[in-house]
Amino acid sequence: MTTIKNVTVAGSGVLGAQIAFQTAFHGYQVTVYDINNDILEKAKATFEKLAEAYKKDLKATAEQTNAALSKLRYTSDLADAVRNADLVIEAIPENPNIKTDFYGKLSRVAPEHTIFATNSSTLLPSQFASATGRPAQFLALHFANEIWKHNTAEIMGHPGTDNEVFRTVVDFAGSIGMVALPLHKEQPGYIVNSLLVPLLSAATDLLVNEVADIQTIDKTWMVATGAPLGPFGILDVVGITTAYNINKMAADQTQDANKIKTVAYLKEHFIDKGKLGVATGQGFYTYPDPAYADPDFLK
Ligand code: NAD
Repeated sequence: MTTIKNVTVAGSGVLGAQIAFQTAFHGYQVTVYDINNDILEKAKATFEKLAEAYKKDLKATAEQTNAALSKLRYTSDLADAVRNADLVIEAIPENPNIKTDFYGKLSRVAPEHTIFATNSSTLLPSQFASATGRPAQFLALHFANEIWKHNTAEIMGHPGTDNEVFRTVVDFAGSIGMVALPLHKEQPGYIVNSLLVPLLSAATDLLVNEVADIQTIDKTWMVATGAPLGPFGILDVVGITTAYNINKMAADQTQDANKIKTVAYLKEHFIDKGKLGVATGQGFYTYPDPAYADPDFLK
């Protein structure tokens, strides 16, 4: 069984930076790889911001965050990035061509024992298994945005993933403070989006078909299930642009009347007005004090 000591994270964008910092925070040596040094310089600034977030949200000490920062190494040379890697976590753009090309190059320079894991949200590992040149040592390890707070790690193999490799990655996820969530088979959207996407889609259907208003729909969900947020509160957190893009893709593919209505609604009322959710201070609710956070909201 491979013992994971050295981890390389490929891609230092939104998720890659978070995965690298979380892994270093839990004591691993982490190499951060990206396509050029300018991008890696930006990543260094991101890590400083993450250190502040860990202090604020996790009450981490400066000593702990400095120790994490000191475990990060940076390079834009792929062979150098993976020369000691036991595990490579890929968090590069959600584009099948970019990922296939990356795995082809990676397979030629990584040591034989190295395990490869993709953080892809929407693409299945079986799509890249042969490009990795080592399908048995390849699987998905999927994190959620703001991983230090939303600490899920969904682990999903493809039919050719070795069971021991799978268990190694489940153990690794636990060791970096994640709640490890193993899936027994490939599932588009993993568990979280298999649950969330239909809920959010049902909520927008109720809204655009004028069955009920935003607050009543959220209130129903919150009172009935005890959830702290309703679907529109969740949509504001996810970002309305993401919801728009998902609905647009589905509308273009299926020509479903509800989806077409939803796309038009989101565009007119939110996208065109720059109301994109929590990030812009305005979405279905107004932030920082959304109406659903008022204790009277549920009455
Ligand atoms: P991002 O655009 O923020 O970052 C991608 C990074 O990859 C950039 O730094 C870019 O320079 C780098 N990159 C581009 N081509 C590369 C290559 N060939 N080799 C190495 N690096 C390369 O993207 P992101 O939001 O961090 O998403 C990355 C992956 O994580 C995607 O597969 C996405 O589905 C997944 N993911 C994203 C989120 C999210 O909320 N953003 C959540 C879960 C999973």
